[in-house]
Amino acid sequence: MIPKNHPRYQSLVLRDKVKNAFMEGYLADTGMIAHGRGETFDYLIGEKTVDSAYNAIEAAVATILLAKHPVLSVNGNTTALALDEMIELANETDSPIEINLFYRTDDRVDKISQLFKDHGYNNILGSNTDDLYYFDKIKNPRATASKKGIYIADVILVPLEDGDRAELLKTAGKKIICIDLNPLSRTSQMSDISIVDNVVRAIPLMTKIAREFKNKDEVFLQNIIDNFNNEDNLKESLNSFKIMKL
Ligand code: ATP
Repeated sequence: MIPKNHPRYQSLVLRDKVKNAFMEGYLADTGMIAHGRGETFDYLIGEKTVDSAYNAIEAAVATILLAKHPVLSVNGNTTALALDEMIELANETDSPIEINLFYRTDDRVDKISQLFKDHGYNNILGSNTDDLYYFDKIKNPRATASKKGIYIADVILVPLEDGDRAELLKTAGKKIICIDLNPLSRTSQMSDISIVDNVVRAIPLMTKIAREFKNKDEVFLQNIIDNFNNEDNLKESLNSFKIMKL
């Protein structure tokens, strides 16, 4: 039990969720390492949504709302940290959720499918009963794509994606929106829109903005997208790191 008055309470709660996901068997051990790396970057941006992330979130939401087939990808970390928040974003933006694991096993996929079901989301894509396509023709478990989801998607939100998979999706012609605390990761560098923020803050904020943007017309949304430059925004994100100012 983490005492609520602990100065690192929020961070420890997240760490506990990630550890429990590993114990429950749906998060790979490397998922815990990825979380630790994320914690470091989060510490350095002051554990808050910085302005550049806010701008990227606005561009991301506008892109999702204008997409023909947007898909929200989830893995073990996102499930552990933001399951209900992901469902809310999916409902608000009419986007399906697809399981997309770097270390895909039937057991992990079944556990994640069940968790989403338990939280009221019944038709998750990328499950073991789904009709899956493999991007690289050989049946590489890292390269799955649901024929109703990622395979036909034009825009994919990938919170916490690994660089290899991001590259695979990009090569397949998809527009990639990532949420990644590391602005220097291969995923952040190759995405079309990189949100340098923690998934636990970024996803609910995306839902809030989607609620507001749904009432706006296409010109308004397109204008937000046209005024966003990912390269400049990543540079701005890097400047938010406290270490740069020491
Ligand atoms: P790449 O292959 O893209 O260069 P990587 O090898 O660092 O990245 P992983 O080890 O899979 O990729 O780590 C995933 C990324 O997710 C890391 O950059 C980490 O900073 C980030 N990350 C971890 N936890 C969170 C979180 N809660 N919210 C957002 N990003 C996170």
